[in-house]
Amino acid sequence: CGVFGIWGHPEASNLTYLGLHALQHRGQEAAGIVSSDGTSLHLHKELGLVTDVFDAGKLAKLPGSTAIGHVRYSTAGGRGIKNTQPFAVDCGGKPLAIAHNGNLVNAESARRTLEGQGAIFFSSSDTEVVLHLVARQPERELTERIRLALEQVHGAYSLLFLSDDQLIGVRDPRGFRPLILGKLKGAWILASETCALDLIEAEYVREIEPGEMVVIDRNGVKSLHPFAPAPAARCVFEHVYFARPDSLVFGRSVYESRTRQGAILAKEHPVEADLVIPCPDSGVPAAIGYAEASGIPFGMGIVRSHYVGRTFIEPTQQIRHFGVKLKLNALRRVLEGKRVVVVDDSIVRGTTSRKVVKMLRAAGAKEIHMRISSPPTSWPCYYGVDTPTRSELISASHSVEEIAKYITADTLGYLSLEGLYESVGSDGKGFCDACFSGKYPVSFPVEEEKRLLR
Ligand code: 5GP
Ligand code: SF4
Ligand code: MG
Repeated sequence: CGVFGIWGHPEASNLTYLGLHALQHRGQEAAGIVSSDGTSLHLHKELGLVTDVFDAGKLAKLPGSTAIGHVRYSTAGGRGIKNTQPFAVDCGGKPLAIAHNGNLVNAESARRTLEGQGAIFFSSSDTEVVLHLVARQPERELTERIRLALEQVHGAYSLLFLSDDQLIGVRDPRGFRPLILGKLKGAWILASETCALDLIEAEYVREIEPGEMVVIDRNGVKSLHPFAPAPAARCVFEHVYFARPDSLVFGRSVYESRTRQGAILAKEHPVEADLVIPCPDSGVPAAIGYAEASGIPFGMGIVRSHYVGRTFIEPTQQIRHFGVKLKLNALRRVLEGKRVVVVDDSIVRGTTSRKVVKMLRAAGAKEIHMRISSPPTSWPCYYGVDTPTRSELISASHSVEEIAKYITADTLGYLSLEGLYESVGSDGKGFCDACFSGKYPVSFPVEEEKRLLR
């Protein structure tokens, strides 16, 4: 998911709309904005893309100088209007809204406990658990209530809270998901990625630290570190696939990471070929890096329709099947008779790669060498990226040779984990790489582990 919040601008909801538009790649199922006019909150949310959900009339009904917004892609809970965010409630006589990027690993047990105490949930989302916990704290100060509530949940959260007079951003102690602070003249902004700042010509100030809480109100910006420190576990996959290449994530250019992934991949898995092509769009920067480092010319062998969302995000296997063709088409003029290196960011189920290889072969490619700019995805993510169960991940049960055979490529090479870390300028500390290594930085309750790792 993507989150965006702004404090202290007369066009708060319009700017939030633009911010969400820039963050659309982080979630295409639903979008919502809640604004505060200083007394009450105003909310509009629907299923669909940002441009479909809002128009000038709807934005005009979101007055005030403070707002938060959310674009959703379901990890916990499920689809449906009842799970769309932001959630806005009345919390002890004061309005409170919440927007969440991430995934809580103990949401189900926390929810059962709350239900046992009489709580009534209106959604199946893990985020609602946080709202209930905040509402139950006896303290008066909102920041203190949030701190006490978040001490009871584990996992990944970059959260925005909006009350009648405060905008609060919180990042979990590991810092799985990104969150940044920006500035637009006198207004303050919190957002998932810096590309949202670029669009509205705001200035990047800094990354919100793992475990930090930022409180923005009429006294300015206050930074708190309310949790016990933990080793950071920033999601390395943001730099492989999830974030937009024109963003800074964790203080680092995503484009630079991706071109380096391609360059290192060329060193780790060289091959004699005539052409390097990306699987668009996610494979583009890595393919540029591969071509540059190998000296093999870069070309556009696959054209992508921009009127289809990310195929991975669509619901059923049947639609996904259909989705690949809907989205990608091979360019015979470029491919005919060539030995081609195809660069993509990841293989999850293997569906995309298999279809792509067949399509390239049918368009006349002579040899097809698949190169993947991350290590094999062998483990599901429980921290906010919607990977399928372990049994559906092809590399959980197949060797690289077997996968090459399945996708019908002549050769297949994955970036090593060391190579991935080199690409993000790290020695391997401070990041989460659980989907590649199986080393989960935050463990889950036993009964949830059984369900999750099936
Ligand atoms: P597959 O067809 O192998 O299941 O999916 C691989 C494709 O899904 C790649 O092209 C990759 O860009 C894309 N993809 C989209 N969303 C995700 C995600 O959340 N995780 C991973 N690993 N790949 C994704
Ligand atoms: Fe990111 Fe993978 Fe860790 Fe999930 S498991 S937070 S996708 S690195
Ligand atoms: Mg892709």
